[in-house]
Parts: sequence; C-alpha cells; structure tokens
Amino acid sequence: MQTNKRQLTMMEMMTRKRDGVGAAPRAAPGPPQPDALDEKLAAANRVFFGHGSFRPGQQRAIRGALHGRDVVVVLPTGGGKSLCYQLPALLTPGVTIVVSPLLSLIEDQVSALLGAACGGIPAAHLTSGTKEAASRSVLHELHKAGEGRGELGLKLLYVTPERLAASPTFGECLAKLHRRRLLARFVVDEAHCVSEWGHDFRPDYRKLGNLRRSYPGVPFMALTATATPACEADLRRSLKISPDALAHRTSSDRPNLHFAVEDYSEGGANDVREAVVDFVRRRPGQCGIVYCMTQADAEACADLLSERCDDVKAAHYHAGLSPANRRVTQAAWQAGRVHVVCATIAYGMGIDKADVRYVVHASLAKSLEGYYQEAGRAGRDGAPSRCVLYYRRQDVAKIRKLVTGFGRMKRRGPRLQRDLDKLDDMVKYCETPRSCCRRQRLVGHFGADPGPGNGDRPCCDLCDRRAGAAAPPRAAPAAPPRRGPPPAPGRARGPPPVRAPKPADVVDLLGGFSSDEDVAYPARKRRAR
Ligand SMILES: [Zn+2]
Repeated sequence: MQTNKRQLTMMEMMTRKRDGVGAAPRAAPGPPQPDALDEKLAAANRVFFGHGSFRPGQQRAIRGALHGRDVVVVLPTGGGKSLCYQLPALLTPGVTIVVSPLLSLIEDQVSALLGAACGGIPAAHLTSGTKEAASRSVLHELHKAGEGRGELGLKLLYVTPERLAASPTFGECLAKLHRRRLLARFVVDEAHCVSEWGHDFRPDYRKLGNLRRSYPGVPFMALTATATPACEADLRRSLKISPDALAHRTSSDRPNLHFAVEDYSEGGANDVREAVVDFVRRRPGQCGIVYCMTQADAEACADLLSERCDDVKAAHYHAGLSPANRRVTQAAWQAGRVHVVCATIAYGMGIDKADVRYVVHASLAKSLEGYYQEAGRAGRDGAPSRCVLYYRRQDVAKIRKLVTGFGRMKRRGPRLQRDLDKLDDMVKYCETPRSCCRRQRLVGHFGADPGPGNGDRPCCDLCDRRAGAAAPPRAAPAAPPRRGPPPAPGRARGPPPVRAPKPADVVDLLGGFSSDEDVAYPARKRRAR
C-alpha cells in the first residue's frame, strides 16, 4: 500500500493545483453546469493522462458516468475506451471495479495507470496472477475503508470474473464498501464476452448481472470494440443495463484500414507462404502482425520471413511459449527491434502498439468479429494500414472441425450452431461478390453503414479493382507502388502438408472459448503494485 499512498498524495497535490478538479463531484451534490463540467473534464484529462483533447464519444460517455447513469460504449479498437471509465473513476468518491477477461490485459492496464502522466494513478489488480502479499494488502485496504477505519486510496481495481465469483472475502469487502457508498461503479470491459453472440463468450461473465442484486444502486459501464446489434442486446439483458442508460456507439468503420482478401483456394499452402513472404518483403522496416492457424505455422512463418526477407526481423508468439519468452518477444516488438510477429490468434488481445502498418491473416479467422478485432490492431495511430487475409477454401473445413470438436469433446446445441453461423459469415466475407465493397460488408455486419465507398481514401481490393487500379496502389506510405503478380494458382507445389492439430493448437485457435484463462493465458509475473 506504500505505493498507493505515495501516488494518492501526488494525485491529491495535482488535484489541488488544478482548482479542485478531483473533488468536484464530492463538493457539489448535483451535476455541475455543462460548460463547467466540460472544462473540468478537459483539465482532468490533461493533468491525469497528459491528453490534449478527447476522442469522439469519450466525453459523452464520461459525462453519463459522472451523472450516475449506466453507460454502454461501443468504440472501435484504438478509440480510447479505457479513458471512458478511468477518468470518472478519478472524479468519483470510492473505488471502481473493472472486470476484464485477460490477465495480460489487466496487467498492462494497471502498469499504464501506475505510470500515468500525473505521476501515477492508484490502481491494482486481484487475479490469479496477483502476488499473495499484494492481494492481502488490497483486501486489507478495502476492508478497513469499508469499516470506516481507514482512507480508501485505491481508485481502480481490476478483477477477472472468476475472481469476483470465487472469493467470499472479496465479496464481504465489496458489501462493506457498498454500505459506506464507496463502491463507485462496476465496469465490464470487453463486454461482448457476456453474450453468447459475442466471439469470446466466457460463462463467468454471464453471472455479472447478479452484482445488481448484491449491490443495488451501483451504476454499470459496459465497453466493447466489436458487438453486433444482437450481441449488444444480449449483453444489455444479461447485465440488466437500465433502459435509460447512456449508449455511445461509434461506427465500427476504420477509414485508414485497407481490406483485401487474396483467394488461394486453387493453390497450395506453400503459395500462401510465398505470398506472405512477398508481402512482408515489400515493406521493410514496417511493423506488422501475421496471424497463423497453428503454433507450428507461426514458428515456420517467422523462420521463413527471417530467412527470406532482408532487413526484416520476425519472431513467433503463441500460447506454447513460456511467459518469459513471450515477454521478451513482446518487448522487442514494442521497441521496434522485431518488425513482424507471427502469432496464433490467442495473441495480444490487449496489445497497444499504435504503428502496426499491416495485419496479415495467413489463414481464415473463425468469425468476422474475431477477424475485425485482430485486423483492427493495424493503424491505431490513424495512418494508412493494410489488412490482408489469405483465403483457402480448404481452411473452412479445418476450422469447422475445430469448432465442432473431436471425439468426446464434440460440441452440440445452439452455441455450436451460432459458432458455425459465425464461420459462415466469415466465409461470406471472403467470398464477397466482385460487384460489392468488402468494407461495406464488414462494417455493415456490426450494424453501421459506412456509405458506398471510402471517399478518396483506400477502401478495399474490390473497389480498387473496379476503379481500374492495378492491385493495391494506395498502400501504406513506405510500400513500393507496384507488386508482382501472386503466384499462379496452377503453380501449386504439391498438396499442402497436412498436420493434425495438437491440443495446444486447439487452445490457440479457439482462444476465446477457453473459460480457464490460466491455461490459455498464463500470468505474466510482474510487480503487481
Ligand atoms: Zn470497398
């Protein structure tokens, strides 16, 4: 708690310096006048996070939260979702409980908060990865504050849904805090995990609606990057979101991303590998991600890229690596010492790297929701970036098999059907007729209409083709203007090597289905607080 006390003092000093920004809601019982509140929010955003302005939708969501309303936020990846609850947490008495699905995501968020521009924001996590001493210290602070015997310094506490459900001591602390009105808000991050219509469904998320009964009157905020209208309706029902909740849904369109699908159904797996090498080679020095179907594919792809592309440093990353190895690779990538990471799709749900110039899928994704989330890791800095998927019809059967399960693990019932329907949507995206726009199909899937094209900006391979453009001329700035033709389908070098998926591959491919986060995503040991 030493750290917290120090950080709180710094925060308080900061707050006092900015004429009572942090104390505003405490001092005034009703919400302040609009302009006064806007000014205070802008000042708080600058002081605490070092941001000069808000991104679209943030201010509205924050205002809704400060008025004590439930809030539902659908903002695309890179849209700044976290600020929507972090800023209100700092401006509201008590502690905000943030439920998040992944240990790595939680640890990244907490370390970002502890290192925030203002000198640190008091945050902590309680997960299976939290050290025993740190857990005890957090619970002790909550307990004392709940009994009125101590100050509550902690502003944001991140937990996994499993921890929330499984720890009676934690529950008691929350009940005490609730009685003293120190439970500011429940935040459900990656809220699509609540819904069976979401692509990362987690059964423990389903129980979060029970918090309503246990802690009446505590407002909720649900945030996600990708939710179809059906998914959003389901998560609202499940979390018992109030009908007068403030909802902010930004169009899921990402105009700086160029989408393309290269059909290699007639070719072999080797042709896809060659095409990936070609794609990466033409972008030396650029930062990218190549998603592969299996761990073995990811390793082979990284080796091939390192061997065949001068000036490109590639590394693999998947759930089969030790936490230490993954940390090293991720740090090297983050620092730009590794250009390309070849990963299975379980990789990096919480990755925050702004200058990813391309995301290549060397095989099919299992849903359009998953695909868009992965592809959306490109171009978070707003600069033109490319999302290419190499499609082989043969992959559909492989993924269908993995989704359906094997032998005794065979799945049945409506959830399986939904997952198969999602795979169908993914296939339809890949097989979008030439007369249509791929971006429109993609964005339309998430309930928004991006309009007939992307203005004068790059749109998709199909629009390029119709515009008579030679294959992608308007690439990211550093890309050369022309590319060689893809290998002719007839030049397949024999049938693709068939390899039965290992259990670990299944975990990677179905990353989102795993309810045991510690199996799929082992904790990265780090200083918890
Ligand atoms: Zn288009």
